[in-house]
Amino acid sequence: MTVTFAKRMSFLQASEIREILKLTQKKEMISFAGGLPAAESFPVEEMKKIAVKVLDENGSDALQYSTTEGYEPLREKIAERMNRKFQTKVSANNILVTCGSQQALDFSGKLFLNEGDIVLCESPTYLAAISALKAYGPKFIAVPTDENGMIIEELERILAAQNKIKVIYVITDFQNPTGITWSLERRTAFMKLVNEYKIPVIEDNPYGELRFENQILPSLKSMDTEGLVIFTSTFSKTFCPGLRIGWIAAEPEMIEKYVLVKQGADLCTSIRSQMEISCFMDEYDFDLNVQKLVQLYRTRRNVMVDMLEKTLPKGVTFTRPQGGLFLWVELPKQMKALDLLQDCLKKHVAFIPGDSFFPNGGVENALRLNYSSMPEEKIREGIRRLSQAIKEYEKK
Ligand code: PMP
Repeated sequence: MTVTFAKRMSFLQASEIREILKLTQKKEMISFAGGLPAAESFPVEEMKKIAVKVLDENGSDALQYSTTEGYEPLREKIAERMNRKFQTKVSANNILVTCGSQQALDFSGKLFLNEGDIVLCESPTYLAAISALKAYGPKFIAVPTDENGMIIEELERILAAQNKIKVIYVITDFQNPTGITWSLERRTAFMKLVNEYKIPVIEDNPYGELRFENQILPSLKSMDTEGLVIFTSTFSKTFCPGLRIGWIAAEPEMIEKYVLVKQGADLCTSIRSQMEISCFMDEYDFDLNVQKLVQLYRTRRNVMVDMLEKTLPKGVTFTRPQGGLFLWVELPKQMKALDLLQDCLKKHVAFIPGDSFFPNGGVENALRLNYSSMPEEKIREGIRRLSQAIKEYEKK
């Protein structure tokens, strides 16, 4: 092609894994690769009724453009839920409705990043956050992370040594990809440092409500005394991703900036989708819907963990998430997850090799497994095949 693309396109490359994963769409495949919520949990019949009700009650307003900030009744409901679940003190003025929380990540890049700026993130971190932010040409520093979250001493060392850090991106609850949750101590220590260095934080929290055990821990936003935390979440995992409704919760001055970015991107989020979610929350028990998902995913998590415990060979370790959709497996150092994936695809099992979740690469012996989208018997069979493939690989 003779056309010249913008420089930022050189930061984006088609991933080798995406190509491989196209194979996972085959019917016979047991796929632990995607991050899909369980399709059977979507309230299809209820949403048919809601669609009619929204059009009956709102007529052409449901099909019109709407305000960039979002549908007021939905913003109010989001604020109320956040205060109840995540211990924040926000109101509708703090909320901007977005087209999924993925849009919030892209907007954050546009808002904060010049080429060469530094983004701090967990190690590993969410693959598509790396893709969204990468377009703006930053450097990533993946802060060493353990089972309780970012290691604060390491974070402090990096904050003291680098002067181009523009944002810190974190997923504190049931992280994608590892499933780990930050301890309360880490959250508190993290916010103390953030306040000291005055660096904006993107707190990405799509999974927090999907907690199988114990209480939801206070969000970073609830500890934010300086207006530095930009909380983003979504209805994709607690309801249905097809409606594409997410949100940003931040201080009004910050929201104003995001509104400017959104106006240039898409003017507003689908008003019909927003009205449908708002109407569903009026007509049905949204908390009950979330509770049902929690039960379903808890069972699937239990089945996967149980099978991994029974079948994995020695030397392979994995996380035991207390919520969310994913767990993380570490193979012995000499094994490569990408090679294992090739073997597994022959057995019709798929997962995502872990390397893509490290912005600077370099970790080849880990993989992410999703347990939300496959029924129990497929999880059992899939893990049996995965463990078999690992044992065969060890003998090579
Ligand atoms: N953040 C994280 C950590 C995610 O896992 C996802 C979805 N996989 C998103 C953001 C984006 O979700 P959505 O755009 O559907 O709200």
